[in-house]
Amino acid sequence: MLPAAYAVLNLEAVQHNLAKVRQYAPQAKVMAIMKANAYGHGLLRIAEQLPNADAFAVARLDEGIILRKAGFTQRIVILGGFTCKEELDQLLLLDLDVVIHNFDQILILNNNIVQRSLNVWLKCDTGMNRLGFKSTEINKAYQLLTTCPMVRQPINLMTHLANADNREDDKTLKQIRTFKQMTGHFSGECSIANSAGILGWHESLTNWVRPGIMLYGISPFSELTGHQLGLRPVMSLHSRLIATKNLEKGETVGYASRWICETPTRFGVVAIGYGDGYPRYAKTGTPVLVNGQRVPLIGRVSMDMITVDLASQPQAKAGDPVELWGNELPVEEIANCADTIPYTLLCGITQRVQIVEQNPLIV
Ligand SMILES: *Cc1c(COP(=O)(O)O)cnc(C)c1O
Repeated sequence: MLPAAYAVLNLEAVQHNLAKVRQYAPQAKVMAIMKANAYGHGLLRIAEQLPNADAFAVARLDEGIILRKAGFTQRIVILGGFTCKEELDQLLLLDLDVVIHNFDQILILNNNIVQRSLNVWLKCDTGMNRLGFKSTEINKAYQLLTTCPMVRQPINLMTHLANADNREDDKTLKQIRTFKQMTGHFSGECSIANSAGILGWHESLTNWVRPGIMLYGISPFSELTGHQLGLRPVMSLHSRLIATKNLEKGETVGYASRWICETPTRFGVVAIGYGDGYPRYAKTGTPVLVNGQRVPLIGRVSMDMITVDLASQPQAKAGDPVELWGNELPVEEIANCADTIPYTLLCGITQRVQIVEQNPLIV
């Protein structure tokens, strides 16, 4: 018996998507981004599918520790850096690469010299204005790192693109130019491109690329689906009908009586809600697949249930299969209907959702 709400992971798609990354960026080494539990897909499970990635990257030290302690020997980059000696000790002990983005980190490095060394990624702030050194600071930071005894040379250089998902926005080219101005006189490998860079801005392809969302088969652009870019979605989200009912004209459905019936109709109740990670703000009309056919969501999404209009499916009954997103119903489309991005939907799958692995290597 399958649980009421479950996510099927087509793990073979991960390798297909990595091959696509290599097609778009044939010269580049690939740092596979696996932060936030591999975008909700399961950190270790996804790491196992990527033996050929040149490095892994996560946001936080705890995520890197989980990977290393599970036995992965690849380079693992901690994108968020570190803030204290204790964290630096862990990085050194477990041989994790780390992003250096402010002078406090360099101070900690120089105050805690031990007989170990680590790979660092010097982060340049080219316009995102979150982490990284400004062009006025970068030479000083580079010079301090190249003379720091624990830092392996040459150091690596990186920046992050703020607007690359908008292919009309010339900020991306400005950021790339700024990065080249900031780092052109340094030795060391460079990394600029996230998924949107890889797919949309060949100028951003340098020694290393950093794909996240595209590894999971999803488009970083709101106007295109992963499918249109040759990617295959890894996750699909499923549930089933648990009731069907008829409504009279004037009756309402759900919290706040948000949906009012205009002509007598049949509707269904599906066992999935925001308690599973289905978006609370999905609008009336958001498509849902019942028995493989599109029907519209009606009324508010509640914690454990949603309601759908079954006018087009009078024969549908309790127990029938429902798909919320996946191959036939792109999560990109659902994200648009909920005024969000696919990233939040993938990361937002909750503990209650059972993961069903579909791994052709095992079957
Ligand atoms: C998350 C992240 C990425 C990957 O971004 P996608 O849009 O998912 O490809 C790349 N680089 C950094 C620094 C990130 O934080």
